[in-house]
Amino acid sequence: MAVRSTREIRRAVVTGGAGFLGSHLCEHLLDRGVEVVCLDNFLTGSPENVLHLMERPGFRLVRCDVTDYVHVPGPVDLVLHFASPASPVDYLKMPIETLKVGSLGTLHTLGLAKEKGARYVLASTSEVYGDPLEHPQREEYWGNVNPVGPRGVYDEAKRFSEALTTAYRTSQDTDTAIVRIFNTYGPRMRPDDGRAIPAFVGQALAGRPLTVAGDGSQTRSICYVDDTVRGILALAFSTETGPVNIGNPDELSMLDLARWIVRLTGSASEIGFIDLPVDDPKVRRPDTTRAQQLLDWQPQVPSEEGLRRTVDWFAAQRELLAAHVG
Ligand code: NAD
Repeated sequence: MAVRSTREIRRAVVTGGAGFLGSHLCEHLLDRGVEVVCLDNFLTGSPENVLHLMERPGFRLVRCDVTDYVHVPGPVDLVLHFASPASPVDYLKMPIETLKVGSLGTLHTLGLAKEKGARYVLASTSEVYGDPLEHPQREEYWGNVNPVGPRGVYDEAKRFSEALTTAYRTSQDTDTAIVRIFNTYGPRMRPDDGRAIPAFVGQALAGRPLTVAGDGSQTRSICYVDDTVRGILALAFSTETGPVNIGNPDELSMLDLARWIVRLTGSASEIGFIDLPVDDPKVRRPDTTRAQQLLDWQPQVPSEEGLRRTVDWFAAQRELLAAHVG
């Protein structure tokens, strides 16, 4: 059963708050009556993602590169460090930025949490398990990562951030926690961020062939954003330290995912195949026993329902754009 923190959380800082996950976190925190300072340099996110929050009392958006410095006047009870390029297309294009935000960005945000006596949650990732030799992945598994492979910039940045976050807990008495997030999808993903779901949905809605990597037999488990955010906040509002896996254990092949999306969009698109990226993990599935036991959390949105909501959002965005373009 979840152990709730006795700490009262009135004001939170969300780094990367103008990104996909960060913007949903800001919204859910405001819904719970928590004031939010959203820090973002708009590297891969956009103010548009939080435009609907601008008029809400207690919300503040500040342009800030957390690799330079982090200064937030006033009290802070919670720091959620979510700033980082997250899609393979982004971090392969921005390897140094990715390593800097994982190292310097994590250092500065941990410094902020220490200074303010705030709780700290690091957004880590299933990528710390690399191309896993253990399946499904439990938090005890140390991973199989190639540090000099192209994906190393992201995986190792997150592994370093985990070590730094742990060191602040053990040597600086900072109240830290680590969440290892597995593939999450939903509204506000960028259509061009290179991740499979927005890519497939965009292709299907445009009637173009869907580009499945390899033979499509590699699997992923996909979690709808509302479930992921609920899990992250359950950890943030608890006294647990993690690492805790948050993800949906339902596993599906990339080929099945493409077929589902074609069906949900009612598209006549065909399915085509492209080369598999280097070091692409073949399987990925969280063991969520820890999240269930410690946080009383499990995903609630079935994949078909989550995908339907996502398809509807992308379709509405296309219509909006078409209306504005004329
Ligand atoms: P995203 O790219 O949509 O959001 C990242 C945000 O961080 C963007 O708004 C970007 O502008 C901002 N940012 C990047 N560098 C910054 C810097 N130096 N200073 C300030 N802001 C900066 O990505 P996302 O999918 O929302 O991922 C958010 C976090 O969650 C990342 O840390 C990512 O590693 C982690 N995560 C996401 C997933 C997922 O499935 N989406 C899975 C595992 C982990």
